[in-house]
Amino acid sequence: MLDIKYTFQSVLDYIVEQCEVSEMTMNIFLRSLKPISIEGNRVTLLCDSEMKRTAIYEKYMPYLQRAFKAELGLDDVRIRVLRKEELEEEQLQKEQEEKEKKEAEERTGSAVNPAYTFENFVVGSSNRVAYETSLLVCGSPAVYYNPLFLYGPSGLGKTHLLFAIINEMKAKRPGFNVVYITCEEFTNLLVDSISKKADPAIFRSRFRNLDFLLVDDIQFLANKRAVQEEMFHTFEALYNNGKQIVFASDRPPEELENIDKRLIGRFSMGGLIDIQPPDAELRQAIFKRKAESYGVDIPNDVLEYLAENIKTNIRQIEGSIKTLKAHSLIGGEEITFEMAKRVLSAYLKKAEEDSVNSEKILKYVSMRYGIKKEDITGAKRDASIKNARHICAYLMRDMLNMTYKEIGAILRKHHTTVMDSCVKVDEDMKKNDNFAREIADIKRELSV
Ligand code: ADP
Ligand code: MG
Repeated sequence: MLDIKYTFQSVLDYIVEQCEVSEMTMNIFLRSLKPISIEGNRVTLLCDSEMKRTAIYEKYMPYLQRAFKAELGLDDVRIRVLRKEELEEEQLQKEQEEKEKKEAEERTGSAVNPAYTFENFVVGSSNRVAYETSLLVCGSPAVYYNPLFLYGPSGLGKTHLLFAIINEMKAKRPGFNVVYITCEEFTNLLVDSISKKADPAIFRSRFRNLDFLLVDDIQFLANKRAVQEEMFHTFEALYNNGKQIVFASDRPPEELENIDKRLIGRFSMGGLIDIQPPDAELRQAIFKRKAESYGVDIPNDVLEYLAENIKTNIRQIEGSIKTLKAHSLIGGEEITFEMAKRVLSAYLKKAEEDSVNSEKILKYVSMRYGIKKEDITGAKRDASIKNARHICAYLMRDMLNMTYKEIGAILRKHHTTVMDSCVKVDEDMKKNDNFAREIADIKRELSV
C-alpha cells in the first residue's frame, strides 16, 4: 500500500529541489494542501480556501503534475484539488452508493408495488375464490392452503393478489419476514451466487429462513434443472418449518412441462385455485373502479361499450382508460360514446393485433421457414414441412395454452400427432442449444 502522506512529502521535496518555487509559495499554497487519496493515477488533494485553490489551478498545477509523475512513476496523473464541502459531499455519495450496492446484494426478494391491495381488487365470480383464499392465507398462514397455487392466464390479477398479500402482511404482521420474488429473479440470484462461487449456504439461508414466501411466474422454472432443485429444497425447508408458500403460474401444475415431478407434486398438494377471465359484469365493475382511480369521469354507456369490447385482459382495461384520459386532457374533449369509439378504435384494433393467436403463429412460421401455410396444414411429409408443423404445434401449446385437440383442428392433424410434435420440439430443444435459441427467438418476435 502506498503511504499517501509519505508520497506527498516526497512530492513537496521534489518541488523544492526541482522547481523554482519560493519558500513563501511553498508554505502558503503547497504545504497547506492535504493529500486525501491516490487511486491509480488519480490524486485527490484538499485545500482550505477557494482563493488558494484558484491560484493552484492557475499557477502551481504544473509543478504538482511534474512531481507526482516523477514520484509515482506514471506518464499521466490526474490531480483534483477539492474544498472540504465538496469532499464531504463526495464521500456521502460514495457511502450512499456502497449502501445501495450492499442492499442490492443482500436483497432477497423482488420489488413490490404498495398500490396493489385487497381493497382495490375488484371481485367477481371469476376471481372470488382466488381473492378469498389469498385473504385467508394472510389471516392464517400455513394453516389451510399450503402451498397456495394460483393460476390463470396473463393479466387477470395474479401478481396483484400476491402484492396484496404482502402489503396486508406488512401492515398487519410487521414482524413477519415476508418475501416476494419472481421466478426469474430467483434464477438470476442463484446464477449470480454460483458464478461468483459464493458459499451456497448464504443463498440458502436467505430463502430458507423466511416466514412467508411468494414466488411469481413459476412457469419460468421450465428447463432449469439447478433452479428447480434449489426451489424444491427451499420449499421443503419452509414447508417443514410450518411456513406459508404461495405460487402463481400461468397454467395449472399438470400442464407445466419440463419441471421436475417432485416439484409438480408439491405445487398440487395445498390448494389449486384458478382465476378465469372476467365476465361482462366484472369487466364493467373493473372499468368503473379504474376510471375512478385515474380520476376520469366516464359515462355508463361508454363503460358498457368498453366492457363489451375489451374482453380478455385487465391490463388492456387500464390501457384504454389511460388512453381516454390522455385524449380528454389534451384535446379538452368530453368523454362520450362517440369520442370513445373513435379514440379507441385504433386501440382496440391494436389490442387485437398485439395478441398472439394461432393465425399469427401459422403466418409467422410459414414466413420464417419459407413454407406455404397450406403445406403446414396439409399432408406433405417433407422434413422441412414437418419441422415447421412441429414448431407451430409447440408454439400454439406453449404460447396460447391451447389443447391438443384445438391445435389439431387448426393444423388438421389428429390430436395425438399434435402431442408428438410438441414432445419432439421439447426434446430437440433440450438436446440442441441452437434449436432452443431459435424457438426462444421466434417466441420473442411473436410477442412484440
Ligand atoms: P397477472 O399477474 O395475472 O398477469 P396482474 O396482477 O399483473 O396480472 O394484473 C394486470 C393488471 O390488471 C394490474 O394492473 C392489476 O392491478 C389489474 N387487475 C387485475 N385484476 C384486477 C381486479 N380484479 N381488480 C382490479 N384490478 C385488477
Ligand atoms: Mg403477473
